[in-house]
Amino acid sequence: MQQTLDQTMPETGRPGLWRGLALWKKILIGMVLGAIVGTLMGPDAEMLKPIGTLFINAIKMLIVPLVFCSLIVGVTSMEDTRKMGRVGLKSVAFYLGTTAVAITIGLSLATLLAPGVGLNMELTEAAAAGKEAPTLVQTLLNMIPKNPVGALAAGNILQIIVFALGLGLALNFCGEKGKPAVRVFESLAEAMYKLTEMVMYLAPFGVFGLMAWVSGKYGLDILLPLIKVISVVYIGCLIHVLVFYTGLISVLGRLNPLRYLKGLINPAAVAFTTTSSSGTLPATIKSAREELGVSKGISSFVLPLGATINMDGTALYQGVTALFIAQAFGVDLEFADYVTIILTATLASIGTAGVPGAGLIMLSLVLTTVGLPLEGLAIIAGIDRILDMARTTVNVCGDMMVTLLVAKSEEELDENTFNKVAADNEAKAKSSTV
Ligand code: ASP
Repeated sequence: MQQTLDQTMPETGRPGLWRGLALWKKILIGMVLGAIVGTLMGPDAEMLKPIGTLFINAIKMLIVPLVFCSLIVGVTSMEDTRKMGRVGLKSVAFYLGTTAVAITIGLSLATLLAPGVGLNMELTEAAAAGKEAPTLVQTLLNMIPKNPVGALAAGNILQIIVFALGLGLALNFCGEKGKPAVRVFESLAEAMYKLTEMVMYLAPFGVFGLMAWVSGKYGLDILLPLIKVISVVYIGCLIHVLVFYTGLISVLGRLNPLRYLKGLINPAAVAFTTTSSSGTLPATIKSAREELGVSKGISSFVLPLGATINMDGTALYQGVTALFIAQAFGVDLEFADYVTIILTATLASIGTAGVPGAGLIMLSLVLTTVGLPLEGLAIIAGIDRILDMARTTVNVCGDMMVTLLVAKSEEELDENTFNKVAADNEAKAKSSTV
């Protein structure tokens, strides 16, 4: 019989108020307290950052073994190779389609609300130097690891996905002879989920440390001049999740969008504070399986793929910031430029790594393609963390939305868990405080 962590962790005295709270409530408390403490402490809140770094390091530790083992288990549990191909194609189509919508929302809002008009920036010689963004061909070629152990050591998720898919397929083709290895990966994957559960106990504290640091670092005087562009990115992100995603969940998936949002709370809080969708992956997989009832096979395949290639928030941000820079520097864009931005940002999102600040580097690719001044990057770089928090959260919400729709269409969604677990958790948490 499976043991939950609560059964296996040693008892430490009487259950207090804190222990009885559901994890998502603890995380929200950590976030709010962090924001308050950080605002009060100002730049001194930097000293709380190590608590956040500790948490980030702990979740980073999980990513490679978790993705590798669970992806192999995902492939070997889908013995029908045609089904795997279908799930892969469906996911990629959804991922790219929703990204194109995201950037269109970003462009429309930035046209409508014109956050850069009136800034009158002058072009100077010293262009902001961004890191070189990889070309699409490079990204595609890089997907195949020349050395899989190197890919695992470097934590290159796309390469790990390709190798794990190949190894999983090969194990399927081996039949009986492949079974012992499959069992080893199943057992390791199970242990990694358990370790994720243990690390998530640190989340409220990590989130507190990160929130305090960000709130202390970015005082109002840094944010105010650029408040318009920040607001446009945040409004766009809210519309994309609360209107577009929930719309797709109810219309295409015929599912209750409130359950979807509830299941998102933990991963969204981790994404918001860590600004890394790859880093959030363990929390996203845990929530998809336990809160929303997505099967192991689908969650371990579609979510890592999404964390790597699906960046709706990043695309939306690139749409807004590209137009913001055009407006600030007084550059007129043609209709063809808008189309180019949509295409480039959608494709660039495939190559954007799910790590902090990656979107800013890819922005240089979009700006170069339409001939916008790279100096604009310097303005955006100053507030990028604040924008990254919103866009990473949307990236993770998008991964979860597509995973739910694919699971539903493949009959791999346990709707009892989807509809009930949130309510059950509350009840469990309440009863443990009594
Ligand atoms: N931080 C984002 C993510 O991890 C990527 C980006 O910078 O846009 O999803």
